[in-house]
Amino acid sequence: MEYISTRGSAPTLDFRAATLAGLASDGGLYVPSSWPQFTLDEIRSLQGLSYVETAVRVMTPFVNGVLSEEELRELCQAAYGRFSHDAVTPLVQLDHQHWLLELFHGPTLAFKDVALQLLGQLFAKFLAGGDTDITIVGATSGDTGSAAIEAVAGREHIRIFMLHPEGRVSDVQRRQMTTVLAPNVYNVAIDGSFDDAQAMVKRLFGDAEVREKITLSAVNSINWARLMAQVVYYFYAAVRLGGPDREVAFSVPTGNFGDVFAGYVASRMGLPINRLIVATNVNDILHRALSSGDYSAGTVTPTATPSMDIQVSSNFERLLFDLASRDGAEINGLMAEFETKRAMQIPEDMVAGARGLFSSASVDGDAMTLALRWAQEHGGQIIDPHSAVGLAAARASDVASDIPVVTLATAHPAKFREAVERATGVRPALPTRLGNLFDREERYEKLAGDYDTVKAYILSVCEHG
Ligand SMILES: *Cc1c(COP(=O)(O)O)cnc(C)c1O
Repeated sequence: MEYISTRGSAPTLDFRAATLAGLASDGGLYVPSSWPQFTLDEIRSLQGLSYVETAVRVMTPFVNGVLSEEELRELCQAAYGRFSHDAVTPLVQLDHQHWLLELFHGPTLAFKDVALQLLGQLFAKFLAGGDTDITIVGATSGDTGSAAIEAVAGREHIRIFMLHPEGRVSDVQRRQMTTVLAPNVYNVAIDGSFDDAQAMVKRLFGDAEVREKITLSAVNSINWARLMAQVVYYFYAAVRLGGPDREVAFSVPTGNFGDVFAGYVASRMGLPINRLIVATNVNDILHRALSSGDYSAGTVTPTATPSMDIQVSSNFERLLFDLASRDGAEINGLMAEFETKRAMQIPEDMVAGARGLFSSASVDGDAMTLALRWAQEHGGQIIDPHSAVGLAAARASDVASDIPVVTLATAHPAKFREAVERATGVRPALPTRLGNLFDREERYEKLAGDYDTVKAYILSVCEHG
């Protein structure tokens, strides 16, 4: 399989190079040169397979030429062996039509583990025995940081620096990062906001002096391998609910459009998906884009679902690329317009093209709370606020009553226990694997929110260990 850029001018790469590169050199995102096709019989043959075997079948075409089926199986076994539920992503029934797909049984209790655990294995495999050391630098407002740290802690040839805004992530989230004491993990609390931290990371990637001294790598959801890992659970859930002989709909709480794009890929590969419901909170650029073509970024409103508090959805470009019949020059033009004006009108034929599969909803705090209570009272489940946004959109949709609707449950309720307690009166306990989180030693550096200080710190660690 070859990978091409959505902006049409970066070099074509194989799976290994696309994984290590993250962003394409023309500013675009890598996508497979064509979507692998599964026949209905091939999908039927997934029935009854374990999560790992499903993962091997679904991902083999994407890694073709770089990893053998056996190598891929070993990586999947290592990645998913760390999940606390043997089904990896179990389904839970809420009522006759609604289901939850629990994606939070990984080490850091959010769905990002599903992709990042595999990405950590892939990085280690691709760098093993070579003489390249990579330095991952990221900024986090919560979930991505801990999932990325867990994925690479203790690995050779990889160092990770994770910047978080001091005092602005929850205690659970901070401790999930800062109590990982592996020598290749560097947590930095920045005096400033998440946007300040994010801006510093972007500047580091564009800094010639930094690039000359260290090989930088990114683990955010623009990395194709992350999306590939997420395609698997759409197949896994659908065949358990009667697919491919019955259509299934999915409702996906969305921020960067990564998770729901993986559902789109499953559909393109031949999985009969009735509908993909894009569920946003009040930061609803995606809902506006899919309903009226208005793709314009405002300012972020903080909500009880911080992992979806974004204004610009990086992965949306991948969908636009397909909607524009994969015309890289057209996407290059549209994105250039967006980057200067922070706004663009998506052409009507492209919006119409998306409507065949996608619908969308913007869910406010009250609707989120009601969905959380409904899951408790009618489905016997305590869910997290992000999953509740998805469930609210699922219940408001007009999917026919004989089609199962699966809401992706993206975080464990204990990760957002204040909000859950406010809505339900129940304070969810931390799972046993994190039970002693508050007794563990923490280690992190506090730095001024100033670029030169952060840059000097990173370069000095890289030079002197
Ligand atoms: C990251 C995240 C999301 C949003 O996922 P995207 O792939 O960015 O759309 C939703 N819920 C939780 C809990 C997350 O951590």
